[in-house]
Amino acid sequence: MPSSPNQDIFHSLGIHRVIEPVGALPQPAWKLDNTPVASSTETLIDVQKLHIDSASFTQIATACERDSERMSRHIMEIVASRGKMHNPVTGSGGVLMGTVEQLDKEFGKSHSLAIGDTIVSLTSLSWLPLHLARIHRIHLERCEVEVEGKAIFFRSNPLAKLPNDLPQNLVVAALDVAGAPARVATLAIPGQRVTVLGAGGTAGLLTLCALRQRLGSAGEIIAVEYSEKALQDVASLGVANVLVQADATRPLDLIAQVSNACSPADYQADLTINVVNVPHTEFATILLTRTDGRILFFSMATSFTAAALGAEGMARQVEMHIGNGYMPDHGAIALQLLRDYPALRTIFAKRFG
Ligand code: NAP
Repeated sequence: MPSSPNQDIFHSLGIHRVIEPVGALPQPAWKLDNTPVASSTETLIDVQKLHIDSASFTQIATACERDSERMSRHIMEIVASRGKMHNPVTGSGGVLMGTVEQLDKEFGKSHSLAIGDTIVSLTSLSWLPLHLARIHRIHLERCEVEVEGKAIFFRSNPLAKLPNDLPQNLVVAALDVAGAPARVATLAIPGQRVTVLGAGGTAGLLTLCALRQRLGSAGEIIAVEYSEKALQDVASLGVANVLVQADATRPLDLIAQVSNACSPADYQADLTINVVNVPHTEFATILLTRTDGRILFFSMATSFTAAALGAEGMARQVEMHIGNGYMPDHGAIALQLLRDYPALRTIFAKRFG
């Protein structure tokens, strides 16, 4: 009997791999079937690296006191119990790099893929069935885990082929946060003032470059960063107008620092982008934004409740966007920024090369 259109859609999303709760989609599901054998509508990837989302990696590193052995055990336990690398504390995933081992013909056609191609997922690890045989090494400084494993892609899952002109590690790091620069480019308007919280991080640096391209020379960019080292990278990038070293979890101090750096009467932004990797930064984000401005909460550590109730309590009508990880061409946009900004490439090479 032919399958119904709905069944085909559900299958392309991967619901046949959901173990519990029954009827859930793969991302919110607690557990997936991670059997490393592909059916005709699935693609099997031989996985070499996981680039774990910064909020998740930071949480695991902290819980394991940055001990690589304990972190490896912790990651193996998460994958064994959930069938995917989906951190139950942060709810976030990351991306993987691997080579195509078995290919669903239709998927191959839509992504121009062949067996043996090296790919990076543009789908969160929290959606993809993953089977890990072992962890070889953890790179604490760049959220990277070298593994031996297999992952399953469904027809709905976006991915990117690794380009030849950029180093692998830089590509994987940029693609993990590619949704941020692509989304920012659609939210900002030339000439506006935009503030970026967490500006010295991976998403932050890409976002600064995307903003400069979009805003033009008349637009003003205020970069807020916690660490002095990362702030030096922001300075060397040379695209932000105002640099502030401050803690976004301390809204009152932060407002004083930003208003001192700008003008006490005029420091609020038309658009604020939150790309920090720690919780409790919603209030600072709202207070740094004009009451009729816009906010993009890209950080996975954002609390919807704190943001919504915070804006209400402050009587701010500010428009708040959730940072969607997907945008058409977001992978290509992020990689083009690496090509367009040699200084960005230099910083990425220093961090991830
Ligand atoms: P990252 O490289 O770790 O960058 C985060 C930056 O925020 C770092 O420079 C960090 O400084 C800074 N920071 C930390 N605490 C701060 C504070 N209290 N005040 C001000 N700045 C602070 O992370 P990333 O890879 O760019 O990711 C950024 C966020 O995007 C994470 O929350 C990640 O989970 C999220 N994300 C979202 C999506 C999505 O689809 N929405 C996809 C991928 C990632 P230090 O160097 O001192 O720590």
